[in-house]
Amino acid sequence: MIDRADDAQRIRNLRKELAEDAESKGYERGRVLPILIHPDHRLNTRCEAVTEITPDLQQLAADMLETMYDVKGIGLAAPQIGVLKRLIVMDCKRSEATDPVVMFNPVVMTTSRSKMVWNEGCLSIPGYFAKIKRPTKVTVLWTDLQGVARLSDFVGLWAICVQHEIDHLNGKLIIEVPHA
Ligand SMILES: [Zn+2]
Repeated sequence: MIDRADDAQRIRNLRKELAEDAESKGYERGRVLPILIHPDHRLNTRCEAVTEITPDLQQLAADMLETMYDVKGIGLAAPQIGVLKRLIVMDCKRSEATDPVVMFNPVVMTTSRSKMVWNEGCLSIPGYFAKIKRPTKVTVLWTDLQGVARLSDFVGLWAICVQHEIDHLNGKLIIEVPHA
């Protein structure tokens, strides 16, 4: 997902911090990967669950974060780089600090009754934006980079982003989601 409020200097800072974070956690700094552009059948494929968090998948997550920051995105799903596995990365923090999130097998457990409309963009559909109404708050269960199950609430832009990225894992793009 694209957030048009992003600016180049902030992204440069984010990438620098991300690289340091990756080093401290023992995996290599991510590489920028090419992003698939719609139409591509891989973007409309339901992805497989991840059964084991291997070093290769940890490196893939680092690569996806680097790719996402490189193109000023706030979320990226594995099918967007041609890997049909249930893995997403996000960082919706609107400040100098980074807050990268890596989720394997994310599942929305509960959604709020309240909804909000956001003008969503997608890294796989350059230049396209659509107003989409989604729950304002969702509770998500996922497996983290260390293989630990996590449960957390996501609100506002974070909630919109995680729902957008999980849609990708089910082969669904914003052109296929009902518009507000
Ligand atoms: Zn997208």
